[in-house]
Amino acid sequence: MNTLERLIEADPGRFRVLTGDRPTGFLHLGHYFGTLKNRVRLQGLGVEVFVLVADFQVLTDRDVAQDLPMYVEELVLDHLAIGIDPARSVIFAHSAVPALNQLLLPFLSLVSVPELSRNPTVKDEIAHSRQSSVSGLMFTYPVHQAADILFCKANLVPVGQDQLPHLEITRTVARRFNDRYGDGAAVFPVPDALLSSAPLLLGTDGGKMSKSRGNAIRLAADADETARLIRRAKTDADRHITYDPGERPEVSSLVLLAALCQDRDPHQVAAEIGAAGAGALKARVTDAVNDHLAPIRARRAEYARDRGYVRQVLREGNERANAVAETTLDEVRTAMGSRY
Ligand code: ATP
Ligand code: MG
Repeated sequence: MNTLERLIEADPGRFRVLTGDRPTGFLHLGHYFGTLKNRVRLQGLGVEVFVLVADFQVLTDRDVAQDLPMYVEELVLDHLAIGIDPARSVIFAHSAVPALNQLLLPFLSLVSVPELSRNPTVKDEIAHSRQSSVSGLMFTYPVHQAADILFCKANLVPVGQDQLPHLEITRTVARRFNDRYGDGAAVFPVPDALLSSAPLLLGTDGGKMSKSRGNAIRLAADADETARLIRRAKTDADRHITYDPGERPEVSSLVLLAALCQDRDPHQVAAEIGAAGAGALKARVTDAVNDHLAPIRARRAEYARDRGYVRQVLREGNERANAVAETTLDEVRTAMGSRY
């Protein structure tokens, strides 16, 4: 256990979590093992958890999808299914909290254009973007994420590896705001990232598993679809299965998936399969994923029958997030001398 984990276990009340996802598709196993499991675990420890449905952030690299309201609800459903409890945690939509946009403006003034344009995650997303031109939001959304995190003074952000450059920008914004306007006191905490043991799960094509890249295994998929996707997953020419993420990323990612689902050591899982080859590995992964997700999928189906409840969860979350955001915005106005 590292120092941060020890601090969280010892005093969960000191921490507040903000984390979120874009409603660009259904949540997948990369999300689950990269960040969702940590969200539920932290909630269980008594940490206050805010989950942002980043609907405005969808605009970064696509037109407003007509499917957006559907994906927003599906995202809430995914969270209910994995065990996020609306009585303890806050799930809310970005577009419903106007104060987030007001925080963006002063925050933008605190970072430079070169700092924004050298962000490796943004560069990767531009490379994968389906749009012919890159929007200004593409370069500035990490600053919007700073507002998303800091509006509730979150000091802990459970994320996948791709988010680390963004979180660095949030930390920079918090420090610079405190230095410039804090008058000796910290208005904002400087939040820490919390990475899981699977901070970059690969998809069936060997690239980062992503909603937008057609390579993901959705939490909501059924057992047959899961089997089909895993059967098609990329492997390599070496028949003998080993766990070596550096040399054999695709095979190792499959081994890791089985290991994560069965709470086992990936080296042991690889050794058990060994010469049986990729077919045996895929069969093992399929069973492991389907067994692990069965209760989550069953709960998801239950919640999906009551869309009214899903919308109510979001409405109540929006209200709670707005109350917190207004308080922070007032503090920011006072600190900046713009409260008349
Ligand atoms: P999109 O393709 O639309 O960007 P995405 O699949 O990358 O979708 P996000 O909504 O951008 O999903 O990410 C939500 C959270 O899930 C972030 O904390 C991100 O780091 C984490 N995450 C996403 N994909 C993975 C992955 N393959 N492995 C581990 N964590 C991931
Ligand atoms: Mg992403």
